[in-house]
Amino acid sequence: MLFPGIKKLGKELNLKRTDSEVVGLIKNCFVKMYDGRNMKILELYVPEMDDDDKNNIIKKLEARKIKKYEWVSSGVKIIFIETVVPYSIKKIKELLDELVNYFNNKYPAQKPKCQHCGQQNETDIYCINDASLLICNDCYNKAERAAQNENMEQNNIKGNYLFGFIGALLFAVPGILLTVLFLVYLNRLAAVSAVAYISLGIIGYVKFKGKKSPAGAVIVIIAALLMVGVGVIAAYAVLIFKELKEINFDSLIFLFKVPEIQKELVTNLILSYIVSSMFIFFKFYQIFKEWKNKKSIQKPREIL
Ligand SMILES: [Zn+2]
Repeated sequence: MLFPGIKKLGKELNLKRTDSEVVGLIKNCFVKMYDGRNMKILELYVPEMDDDDKNNIIKKLEARKIKKYEWVSSGVKIIFIETVVPYSIKKIKELLDELVNYFNNKYPAQKPKCQHCGQQNETDIYCINDASLLICNDCYNKAERAAQNENMEQNNIKGNYLFGFIGALLFAVPGILLTVLFLVYLNRLAAVSAVAYISLGIIGYVKFKGKKSPAGAVIVIIAALLMVGVGVIAAYAVLIFKELKEINFDSLIFLFKVPEIQKELVTNLILSYIVSSMFIFFKFYQIFKEWKNKKSIQKPREIL
């Protein structure tokens, strides 16, 4: 995540950004900063780090009462815990300056290493599937070829939209039961049915080998929306059968033609769609993004 504080600091330091991080080179260090849940995180990758350097980092952190950090390959990940108020951006900047200057003074001739192969020449920052990395030219070329191959394989995977659709409908059936129970016994519409329709629908779609693609995401959502309507109609049918004290489809069809009952049914359908649609579209957005599935390599962009 990237909140305004870190973004502003990144801009001040002439760094760039990805969707979720501020990244860049400062002197001979590779820096990444981002927000987490109740925390800010600074990742610093340095050209060299021996035990002496580690002790120096620990001292600098202790002097600032920073207790949470972990060693990562050629670097350190520092976590600034936020309890009530956000952690001071100024303090993060001061610590960052201090650390970068330390490594720049100690290893002036060295550059930050490629995070794949460790060499120091021709490195640049790339964002590979949402994670930014400092890699060299050779490793970039390899990563790009791998991404292209993977995209091609993904495109060639056969999946069946029709079976996926049937799977999504079948698996969503328990959701109807929820709608019926809520309407018949509690006399209310349940948004929880929508959760069942879409969540089970996704499982059904995948189980029936539906192709994971943007079109597949649309199919899952159509199935869920259909089920919302089916659920309400089924619940009404059960209500009517309960009144009639028998299961009689002729009377059911007859009653569904009565204007008052029709009006009530339509009102309930509309209400159901209103309560369900928010959740269904939120889920749709998630799977759409996931199933878009194109591996990509990009350079970080300017912070605006
Ligand atoms: Zn490399």
